[in-house]
Amino acid sequence: MFDSIKDQIKNYKKIVFVTGAGISQESGIPTFRGKDGLWRNHDAMKLATIDAFYDNPKLVWEWYNERRKNIFQAHANPGHKAIAELEKYAQVTILTQNIDGLHQKSGSSEVLELHGSIVKIKCSVCNYKEEILTEISNLPPLCKCGNILRPDVVWFGEPLPQDVWQNAIDFASQCDLMIIAGTSLVVSPANTLPLYAKQNNATLIEINPENTEMSKEMNEIIRKTSAETLPKLVSLFKK
Ligand code: NAD
Repeated sequence: MFDSIKDQIKNYKKIVFVTGAGISQESGIPTFRGKDGLWRNHDAMKLATIDAFYDNPKLVWEWYNERRKNIFQAHANPGHKAIAELEKYAQVTILTQNIDGLHQKSGSSEVLELHGSIVKIKCSVCNYKEEILTEISNLPPLCKCGNILRPDVVWFGEPLPQDVWQNAIDFASQCDLMIIAGTSLVVSPANTLPLYAKQNNATLIEINPENTEMSKEMNEIIRKTSAETLPKLVSLFKK
């Protein structure tokens, strides 16, 4: 494990993690794709769209309330904690597709949330935004302007915030080691980040029990879970 970097570990100065739902799976948060991925017989991919929201905002909000409850109760797992600890040994940046805030909870300081955050909500029309850490009642919630409030997350088909995405590209393009953990790499544009790192001749390592679309691009593949694998990466840096 980590054979591709073991002998030159001290040479890695800028490490970027690209993470997805799988890294939080061992914290009890279901992924979208995979055996635990569906909720109440609805297709998650069809609920996380603007069309679904306008079609049935109450249903989408019920789904987000369930997810919020689950996420607020969740704790960071050894995978999240290992990445946070790695900051003692190298410059670490996390480009996460997750909206659960668990990287920040585990103490990581440089986290770019590509797809927003589940604690934040925003108006679907005006510029109003706020953070709410409790369950949301009277669904769908309304903004003072009279329009519907929505989760401040990036839904399928929506563009990423331009500044966040540009920063993500910059970090990916300058890293010398990229660890891709717990993502199926099917969601665009996040799935292009390994290609930016590759252009910089970075070493790419995938941690995922299953094959992904980008597995063929990797220097090393570790077919194990992130919670069992990432603490071993930190041990290498400690030596
Ligand atoms: P995904 O559901 O498409 O894929 C999850 C991947 O994680 C799979 O390839 C699976 O094999 C792998 N995996 C499962 N358990 C793992 C483990 N213990 N360790 C390592 N890998 C594991 O998720 P995605 O690629 O992040 O893309 C889907 C979208 O879903 C993203 O936009 C994300 O915002 C959203 N999402 C986020 C959360 C969250 O915030 N925790 C949860 C569900 C979905």
